[in-house]
Amino acid sequence: MTKLIAIDGPAGVGKSSVGKAIAKKFDINFFSTGEMYRCLAWKVLSQNIDPQDESAVIKIAKQVKWEYKAQDNVLRVYIDGVCPLDKIHNEEVGRAASKVSAIPDARTIIMDEQKKLAVAGNIVLEGRDIGTQIAPFAKVKIYLIASAKARAARRVKQLKEAGQNPVYEDILASIISRDERDSNRKIAPLKPAEDACIIDTSDLNLEEVINKVLEVASKNEW
Ligand code: C5P
Repeated sequence: MTKLIAIDGPAGVGKSSVGKAIAKKFDINFFSTGEMYRCLAWKVLSQNIDPQDESAVIKIAKQVKWEYKAQDNVLRVYIDGVCPLDKIHNEEVGRAASKVSAIPDARTIIMDEQKKLAVAGNIVLEGRDIGTQIAPFAKVKIYLIASAKARAARRVKQLKEAGQNPVYEDILASIISRDERDSNRKIAPLKPAEDACIIDTSDLNLEEVINKVLEVASKNEW
């Protein structure tokens, strides 16, 4: 029997940390679907293309080749043979990822790739539309929420730990505008699946969230 866990929620809510821990626990792979939008955005930016230039973005989305390699219970994504992990986790690429992900034809190509991963199973898929679009058949669907302020504070802490010097107000504004764009786009907007278990992480630490997810998973047959 394959295992499939869907974890959705807004930016900065802790989906990756929770998802990675859960994947380790079950010895399956964790995959961040947002990294595909980030990779596409990075490719677009590196060719000096405006991420809102729909036809140019679609053209690139149609051309790129996706590959995946598992490493320590994490599935790493490769775009045209490159895994640009160290270049995609910054605000500029995040903003551009949110823009390219709202272009329907580009999004459909990436969603089709992600659906294959869901069908193959034995994976924790993390994103915005896993429970609603990519894996509506998942037995375990988690939707994490936290206030924008709590998420901004966590992000500032993370960036400081990574040696950067973030401004809280800028991070908060960026989170709010990303939420807005992700929630209001026409295709696959950010929202919980009807049968998702919603967990508010604002006042919980990582351990507590992981335990709640494990509790939900233990109640399901899979
Ligand atoms: O999760 P992450 O912040 O890395 O995602 C980057 C952007 O990609 C998000 O802001 C969102 O616009 C988009 N995304 C999406 N659907 C997903 C995952 C990410 O639209 N399943």
